[in-house]
Amino acid sequence: MTLKVGFVGWRGMVGSVLLERMREEGDFKGFEPVFFTTSQVGGTGPDVGCGPTPLLDAADLRQLAKMDIIVTCQGGDYTSAVYGNLRKAGWKGYWLDAASTLRMADDAVIVLDPVNRAVINRSLTAHGRLFVGGNCTVSLMLMAVHGLFEAGLVEWVSTMTYQSASGAGAKNMRELLLQMRQVAAAPGALLDDPAAAILDIDRQVAASVRDPSLPTQHFGAPLAASLIPWIDKAVADGQTREEWKGHVECNKILGTAEPIPVDGVCVRVGAMRCHSQGLTLKLKKDLQLEHVESLLAGANDWVRVVPNDKATTLRDLTPAAVSGTLTVPIGRLHKMKMGPEYIAAFTVGDQLLWGAAEPIRRMLNIIREHLNR
Ligand code: NAP
Repeated sequence: MTLKVGFVGWRGMVGSVLLERMREEGDFKGFEPVFFTTSQVGGTGPDVGCGPTPLLDAADLRQLAKMDIIVTCQGGDYTSAVYGNLRKAGWKGYWLDAASTLRMADDAVIVLDPVNRAVINRSLTAHGRLFVGGNCTVSLMLMAVHGLFEAGLVEWVSTMTYQSASGAGAKNMRELLLQMRQVAAAPGALLDDPAAAILDIDRQVAASVRDPSLPTQHFGAPLAASLIPWIDKAVADGQTREEWKGHVECNKILGTAEPIPVDGVCVRVGAMRCHSQGLTLKLKKDLQLEHVESLLAGANDWVRVVPNDKATTLRDLTPAAVSGTLTVPIGRLHKMKMGPEYIAAFTVGDQLLWGAAEPIRRMLNIIREHLNR
């Protein structure tokens, strides 16, 4: 029997990266892809090697119920509107979702298979049918420091993030660039004159950042030549929801019996699609730094330990170097003044790849393998 896999949200930012990766990996084989839309019913779907297909209505429960697997990158409102009703109508298929809506549901597994394949396997064996991609920052942190968690060495982690515009959506990426253009143009000819006083240039830039005409509709504040130390809405204890996710999602992904504290401050910066994080790790014991590095480096195929020197750091440990790649470098590793169990680290990852589309792509293949056994 040919599996039917329905795709919803395939033309959004995460969905397009997912399709691109599936094409690259030759994943569109051995099943029938069916494309849905919330806005272009009857239009033509993407050609993924089986010819163009008509787009079906993503609100049509009868059509959705014909799918063995539904992959959605459409967003939380869509999930809220459709998932419960589809289940109530008796649908027993696999739901694979990029939105956060269902992540903390009891029957949901947050998928990051290089880190939690055992948790995923347990759920599949127990007939679990709800799988959700994790928060981008959490997934990228775990890809980087997986080796230390796996060895049971982490007492707690503090993560200070430097998150890119893409995490807030396509409109925000455009807004960042529009701000950059306006701010960079502000000093005019002064910038081309090497003799111009830097404080004059700075005054022009500062005025343009504060100018009400700077487009800030999506971020709510200037990001170019600035940063925003607030992501998402406020929750309890002075945290933002993005910071709250760090603890709850990390522990859910790992399936920890005793929660490992994860906390910090999440900050939006002017990078396009790579999230970076400065980590403080309190280990349960004093280990040689070389031992820590070898545990990190051996944990999965994508993490890379970057030697703690300036030239290699500038070459390999920046959003500019990592953007568009699946590599998750971790560097700046050193023991901290607080004591021998405290490790500082810095990691960077593409938040549309390992932070969003890649765990979903791989999970789709895992479900297909499970069903084809
Ligand atoms: P998005 O780019 O806003 O796309 C969502 C939907 O918007 C598309 O599927 C499309 O649906 C519709 N759309 C309307 N106008 C469009 C246009 N001009 N171009 C493309 N699509 C358009 O959403 P996203 O950033 O991919 O996020 C999807 C979900 O993944 C969200 O729940 C988000 O929280 C989650 N997520 C995002 C990230 C991230 O980095 N952005 C990371 C992890 C998880 P129709 O084709 O049906 O009209």
